[in-house]
Amino acid sequence: MTPFARRRAPRVLLLLALLALASHAAAAQDTSAPAYKISYRISMPQPASHLFEVQLDVSGLAGAERVDFQMPRWSPGRYAVFDFAKNVQELKAANSCPPEKMFAIKTLPVERLDTQTWRVSTEGSGCVNLLYKVFADDLSGTFSQLDERHANFNGGSVFVYVVGHKQDAVSLKVEAPLAWKIINGYSTRPDESEFRFPNYDLLIDTPTEVAPDFTVQTFEVGGKLYRVVVHSLGPEGGHRDELVRAVEKIVRAEVATIEPPEFEQYTFLFHFDPNARRGDGMEHLNSTEIIETGALADPKVLDSAIGTAAHEFFHNWNVKRLRPVGLGPWDFTRPVVTRGLWIAEGFTNYYGKLSLRRAGIWGDEDLFKSYAATIGGIENSPGSRLMSAVESSLLAPFLDRASHDQRTNLADTSVSYYPKGETLAVTLDLLIRGRSRGRASLDDVMRRAYEEFYLKGAPDSYYLKGRAYTVEDFQRVASEVAGFDLSDFFRRHVYGVEPPPYDEALGYVGLRLVRAPDAKPTSAGPTVGAGEATRQARTAYRIETDEKASPEARTMREAWLKGS
Ligand SMILES: [Zn+2]
Ligand SMILES: [Zn+2]
Repeated sequence: MTPFARRRAPRVLLLLALLALASHAAAAQDTSAPAYKISYRISMPQPASHLFEVQLDVSGLAGAERVDFQMPRWSPGRYAVFDFAKNVQELKAANSCPPEKMFAIKTLPVERLDTQTWRVSTEGSGCVNLLYKVFADDLSGTFSQLDERHANFNGGSVFVYVVGHKQDAVSLKVEAPLAWKIINGYSTRPDESEFRFPNYDLLIDTPTEVAPDFTVQTFEVGGKLYRVVVHSLGPEGGHRDELVRAVEKIVRAEVATIEPPEFEQYTFLFHFDPNARRGDGMEHLNSTEIIETGALADPKVLDSAIGTAAHEFFHNWNVKRLRPVGLGPWDFTRPVVTRGLWIAEGFTNYYGKLSLRRAGIWGDEDLFKSYAATIGGIENSPGSRLMSAVESSLLAPFLDRASHDQRTNLADTSVSYYPKGETLAVTLDLLIRGRSRGRASLDDVMRRAYEEFYLKGAPDSYYLKGRAYTVEDFQRVASEVAGFDLSDFFRRHVYGVEPPPYDEALGYVGLRLVRAPDAKPTSAGPTVGAGEATRQARTAYRIETDEKASPEARTMREAWLKGS
């Protein structure tokens, strides 16, 4: 290499590195622009119309000629692409901020650029008001609903963001109908109607309920306040107190499994609506939205709500804070790209159920039956032989409540990362416990990952503390905590499609997986019609206690079931 080349090469490399950084930053979001002052107002003057009215005031434009506004194509936690912009109507812009200067109001030109983006020309104004209506008639963890009973909104489906300014602090004012109360994860008083958020991503992480007749019950665990909000649109049969007691037991069990949570208060927002089209559960940073499609009076509905609460509350650690790469901050112009949903959702399935046992709500047999059913669903599904846990995570936008007008073969070619990840968690936990002779567990792996990536990780964005992990990061932490190399497990069962070593894993805690012929059809893929799965000979799976298990295996089983 000549001296000339030696001097030149680093400059070229530096330039290439800068270009790479610049294009990466542009793809994620340009966070270098001076912050705008952004205020949202949502009102509901005619609940029966299902139309929310939204006003967005943006000021501090500093000479910008135009401001682009964008509606997310999807929202976090539910990965199908829904294109929320389709429910936006009557969008217009003006240049009067704050609103009291209404006499000077002037309409500004708006151009629609694509399905999700509107461009407003500022015409020299230092501020822009954007006004639109958004149709909302779905009670769900993703969509929103306004009717004569209540308003329940999830921000991703009602609020546009300012392109290039998703990282700016925002405020929200909720204008409720007379005598309707407002509650969300951030509210601290019944009459509170104005909220501030560090960025748009956290604004839309805050589902809000507005109604005249929800109930609020509270309890404390470790000095943190927990609120159980119930909006019953059917009879309760006196079950509400039982629900609250069960939720408290779950919180205690899960806090003991990982560690005390970071929030000061957490809000469970329950809906019991016999007319709801679908049930749902959605995790948020300091709240969860849970929708049951029946009345609380029905014992099965009560059980379902308790099970969902156990799953969603575990997300407080796993997914909302300890998060795989791709899960925040979000690029809402394209479907999510993440390889870790089998950990984020599958491990949460596993821990939700285990927590019901640790909380004393389930017995051993309930737990074994539930895990065996998941193993059966996976092992009987032809998609399990074709799609790995990682690939399933990447294809979440096809699988997670996506609707398919075109006929697909997904029922036979795909596997859901929920049950797939659950089977991997069962196996991994028991392998770690067994091979380490009880010294380590998946609980330790989760605690260590939470600490290393969330609590102590150098922040990777404006969105939240800590950094996101890759599947490789998780494999490393799991191996370090387990005390043995897990690369073979990950290669065969996580990146590959080989069934995990259930027999070895269950054997360590004195359990057996029993396989027997069964005619009952099950499917682990998305329910998109009867496929090959329902035509094949089936195997029924059952987890049994091995009466001849060693005392060591019994001790290890107790530790696993009780949490230590
Ligand atoms: Zn409600
Ligand atoms: Zn979940």
